[in-house]
Amino acid sequence: MRRSLVVGNWKMHGSAASIDTLVTGLQQQLANLPADQTDIAVCPPFVFIPQVISQLEGSAIACGAQNVSDQQEGAYTGEISATMLAELGCQYVIVGHSERRTLMAESDADIAAKFTAVQSQGLTPILCVGESLAQREAGETLSWIEQQIKAVIAVAGIEAMAASVIAYEPIWAIGTGKTASPEQAQEVHAHIRQVLANESQAVAGALQLLYGGSVKADNAAELFGKQDIDGALVGGAALKAADFAAICMAA
Ligand code: PEP
Repeated sequence: MRRSLVVGNWKMHGSAASIDTLVTGLQQQLANLPADQTDIAVCPPFVFIPQVISQLEGSAIACGAQNVSDQQEGAYTGEISATMLAELGCQYVIVGHSERRTLMAESDADIAAKFTAVQSQGLTPILCVGESLAQREAGETLSWIEQQIKAVIAVAGIEAMAASVIAYEPIWAIGTGKTASPEQAQEVHAHIRQVLANESQAVAGALQLLYGGSVKADNAAELFGKQDIDGALVGGAALKAADFAAICMAA
């Protein structure tokens, strides 16, 4: 039985004051959630990670980062390494978010390198994959997702996938208010699990597979009701404590 996982991606939002309020709200709202059922993490902007980790001390909510360098140290101006994130106390790092693939031109090779850099420091990568609307309409969704996952397996190896999380995030559903139907999401999730199962049944069975794309309190339960959907990566709705908490409850 896989544990469920809900991760909030706060993107480039917040101030010290608003994040203080958000974390306090989350701790209040989630105080009664049985910790043995659902893993919860939040991914603030880098500069607020120490504040959030300090506020979360003693809580079951983990902290993650939204990005990382593929290098551990050196002359890489403006970059943040997995070593640094581990020292701060992060547990997760999002790699391959579609905004980074699109806006920062990150390639599958870049993402695979980040994935291994994260794991080398004992952190858990949350690997994001997803198709554009044009790819979906062209019937290329499953082959595209498979290619994105195999690009990481080719570098990291199938066993490394056991210590990772995969988030299926259709690009057309991110921040648009359009959610994939539970059936559309389940179809892709089942395919991802099959791609992994072709190499290792054990890895495929154990891996937490999240859906992301306009998940809200009122659509979460239906998505989580699907066999291969183990939780969610949440953007917009993660910025309101009550909404994020409701999604965690649904998981
Ligand atoms: C995301 O950016 O990972 C995301 C899922 O955003 P939203 O929930 O706002 O669609």
